Amino acid sequence: MPILIDYPVVKRPHRTPEFTAQDKEIRTILCPQMAPIHFALFQAVFENQGYCFEVLPEVDREAVEEGLRYVNNDVCYPAIVVVGQLIQAMKSGKYDPDKTALMISQTCGGCRSTNYATFLKIAAVKAGFHHVPIIPFSIDIANGSTKGINVNFKMLKKMFLAFLYGDLLLTLSNRCRPYETVQGSVNALTETWINRLRQEILSNGKHRMTDFAVRIVRDFDVIELTGEGTRPRVGIVGEILVKYHPGANNHLISLIEQEGGEVVIPNILDYMLYCLTSDEQRKRYSHVPFFAGLKSSIGVRLIERQRDKVRNILGKSRRFAPMGTIRHLIRLAEPIVSTCNHTGEGWLLTAEMVELIEQDIPNIVCVQPFGCLPNHVTGKGVLKELRSRYHKANITTIDYDPGSTEVNQLNRIKLLMAVALQNFPK
Ligand code: SF4
Repeated sequence: MPILIDYPVVKRPHRTPEFTAQDKEIRTILCPQMAPIHFALFQAVFENQGYCFEVLPEVDREAVEEGLRYVNNDVCYPAIVVVGQLIQAMKSGKYDPDKTALMISQTCGGCRSTNYATFLKIAAVKAGFHHVPIIPFSIDIANGSTKGINVNFKMLKKMFLAFLYGDLLLTLSNRCRPYETVQGSVNALTETWINRLRQEILSNGKHRMTDFAVRIVRDFDVIELTGEGTRPRVGIVGEILVKYHPGANNHLISLIEQEGGEVVIPNILDYMLYCLTSDEQRKRYSHVPFFAGLKSSIGVRLIERQRDKVRNILGKSRRFAPMGTIRHLIRLAEPIVSTCNHTGEGWLLTAEMVELIEQDIPNIVCVQPFGCLPNHVTGKGVLKELRSRYHKANITTIDYDPGSTEVNQLNRIKLLMAVALQNFPK
């Protein structure tokens, strides 16, 4: 006899309206913060295309509380942070709901990041903003997934440059800041370059990408430093939002610098290339439509060709080393995890740790949201293997969620730094 299950009736949430071409003229798009340097440039890309676009400032405790109010607390910490930040902005009274739209990232993978836009829709409806359009920002946006956002080739190219320059500025400033002779000089130089690049993007300047890269590297190459190279280098890897967002990771970069370290953070473009290689890697084990695999290979080649120019410039500098390629990262991960791990940070997380260790940076902080299963598999899950392959590896994992105590995180960092300083050659 069949067993009848009495399923509860699930009420569909109200639909929020779609962002249309007319909305472009009247609405300000609010975007949550993720990586302050990159997103300042990202904002300029949208402004250049005629959108009224605003990236919200760093998240605070109140935004997290707001997120907890509207998103179930078993949902990932990054979702709580970004939804909370957007709802907090809407409730602040600063924005007219009839003239505002909300943007949120959607990675369309096997984990909860696929549902971020739905979480935001439900939260917006509950908070009384059911008439505010929600824009899911995914890689598909370039294929016209959102009617009102027209991502043409020019815009796509500018977005790529925004992230390329963002990576460059973040890497160079982290390399120089701990040794600056004049306090605040490195952050001031970074700020100057953000403003110049924003102007270049906004004014459709005709400078070549390499002209700016040469000048940025030259400026950071000659900035006055004292005691260069006298601190142990510490890598930060992990979930993308917690890794780059100072508010979400309780200002991890500053903390490591205060404890006597120099921070190294892998590039955001590596994450994008990792997403792009997904079809190409899957093709090795399962059926992937021919054109999907081809698109992925061409995209990777185009991006890497541009990054080669920056690698050349960095290679000629006094202070800086060129970044690795995505192909190299794939080779580093392959002996440890399958490169078909494409959920969360997937194989990239393992590859970044191996790359850091091979660059003689054995001190690594692996940050992950509490309960982030994919990153626990390819982050925490591979530590035993990494330690057995690289005996000098000094890796600590830190979980972030609204309930985790800062004292616990601080203790772990202090312990990592104590070992790092002890092992650092005097
Ligand atoms: S990567 Fe982790 S934190 Fe991010 S959506 Fe997936 S499960 Fe959540």
